[in-house]
Amino acid sequence: MKSIELNNAILTHIKKTKEVGHYLWERQWAERNGGNISIFLEDIEDQLPKTIDDFRYVGNRNFPKESAGLSFFVTGTGERLRDLREPEFSSCIIRIDDNAAGYHILWGGQKDNFRPTSEFITHLKVHLDMKKNGRDSKAIVHTHPIELIALSHHPEYNKNRYKFTENLWKMLPEVRAFTPNGIDLVKYELPGSEALADLTVKSLRDHDVAVWEKHGAIAAGKTVIEAFDYIDVANKGAIIFLKCLAAGFEPEGMSKKQMDEIAAIL
Ligand SMILES: [Zn+2]
Repeated sequence: MKSIELNNAILTHIKKTKEVGHYLWERQWAERNGGNISIFLEDIEDQLPKTIDDFRYVGNRNFPKESAGLSFFVTGTGERLRDLREPEFSSCIIRIDDNAAGYHILWGGQKDNFRPTSEFITHLKVHLDMKKNGRDSKAIVHTHPIELIALSHHPEYNKNRYKFTENLWKMLPEVRAFTPNGIDLVKYELPGSEALADLTVKSLRDHDVAVWEKHGAIAAGKTVIEAFDYIDVANKGAIIFLKCLAAGFEPEGMSKKQMDEIAAIL
């Protein structure tokens, strides 16, 4: 199969993705093929051969027009994140064609019928929105953090998005400090759907983490490590909150004044 040579910047991205894939597996956040990762590769154009016609092509897609010509590293559908130690088999680099009607696989995806993650539409729409708004968050991680998911099942706390963020912020100064834009709760939608993609785009415009009710969490960062950190910090808040409830008491939480003091020094 034809494949491009990867430059050091992309190799570093892939190395960090492997590292994060390992963390997700260790935390039991990536059962079977759970979770997916993508990176917008803005500066790949100058590495492409003059013609890419003979790279594998997948058509019959209807991507947003503004994605034409853009390239992404993305993990594969049905692939296990723990298999990222051999990324050329479990992930790929694609370039969306000039009509946004399909894509060429420029690297990786070395399996029959390999396809990018079924959540790719969410990744793509978030990347496009970040680009449009001049944000430099080019890496996106979606995973299944146990305690954030558990809390999203809570029949009382899953009713109020503002309370959801506040309950997590109040558990630990670091949660307030390192998810300064908050942890949003996105109502349940079918995985892989346009509806979930559109709600996620809106949510990540002004939050650091979007928790998909009864499903998982997604975050964007400058690197895959940064995106992972947002979810990891948010999940720490959920662990503490649930531990208090399991011990039989409602946590007191940091006071508003204590949280405002932290917000003031950010
Ligand atoms: Zn998922």
